[in-house]
Amino acid sequence: MSKSDFAAMSRLFADIDLFAEGKATGFLRVPHSVHRSAYGWIPIPIVRLKNGDGPNVLMQAGNHGDEWEGQIALGNLIRRLEPKDIKGRLVILPSANFPAAMAGQRTSPIDDGNLNRCFPGNPDGSITEQIAHYIEHALLPGFDYSFDFHSGGSSLAYIPSALAPRHGDAARMKTVIGMLKAFGAPVSYLAAAPQGGGRAFTSASFRQGVISMGTELGGGGLVTQQSLKVAEDGMRRVLAHIGLLQGPVPPPTPTRLTELGGEDYYVYASDGGLFEPLVELGDMVTKDQPAARIHFHHTPWREPETLAFQRDGLVLCKRIPARCERGDCLFHLATDLKE
Ligand SMILES: [Zn+2]
Repeated sequence: MSKSDFAAMSRLFADIDLFAEGKATGFLRVPHSVHRSAYGWIPIPIVRLKNGDGPNVLMQAGNHGDEWEGQIALGNLIRRLEPKDIKGRLVILPSANFPAAMAGQRTSPIDDGNLNRCFPGNPDGSITEQIAHYIEHALLPGFDYSFDFHSGGSSLAYIPSALAPRHGDAARMKTVIGMLKAFGAPVSYLAAAPQGGGRAFTSASFRQGVISMGTELGGGGLVTQQSLKVAEDGMRRVLAHIGLLQGPVPPPTPTRLTELGGEDYYVYASDGGLFEPLVELGDMVTKDQPAARIHFHHTPWREPETLAFQRDGLVLCKRIPARCERGDCLFHLATDLKE
């Protein structure tokens, strides 16, 4: 099926022309008939900037509603960038799962949908599945590059990072590593592909032939000046690197290139209780080093359980809330990439 066939299947549409010259702001309309509003639609903000020929770029945040740095940084970019500043076409979707963002949640309050586990979507599915279907089949085809700005959200915090899955051939990976270096987050990492079992935005981009990069900018439900600066400076540097943004950009910053492997990179709660971290973000740890204690507040006379790392590495990600259930991710590591 052609792109227009998929677009015709979708109930969503953009109320601005996504291909015209100049700057336009508007909404993706998601029809949603509810008690309060019989014929209403959910307004997902969308912006287009175009100035002649050049790369076609899609920038997205709010795939998870409670990850804020990307949403703020894309808002700043929308207000500050004019068509004369670019060559090519830039489409910005700052809060892709808008109902989740409005609720301050990872998932949508309408259908509990995690957008980044809903691709390739379903045009007749739940609201989140319909958004995923529109993004993969109506929006993504025709872009050269896509960016998906995540953070750790309410339950996790990251060293501000940029990432890409290991997708495609050596030439493609070289392009992506060049983008990660241009973005210049303190850490960059290559993740195993496909992330999220093929249901993530990066897999959707890969299926549609679009080169894709993501971030984990911080998290904990917070925004800091440090994480916001990583986001904003990185966005400008990488947009210039791929030839879209014209004019001066912030000076380059070094990134530590790392990678993520399998399950031994992760530490999970072995029981429900209270999580006491024994290391912090940025620490270098070794195999069998104690990572956390789980305290049992139902039975405080029971000795806490000590969990250990299964391998050496850099502490890239850490759980934020102390309350935990069996199976919650407490830490994950990264190891330096052998280029
Ligand atoms: Zn996320």
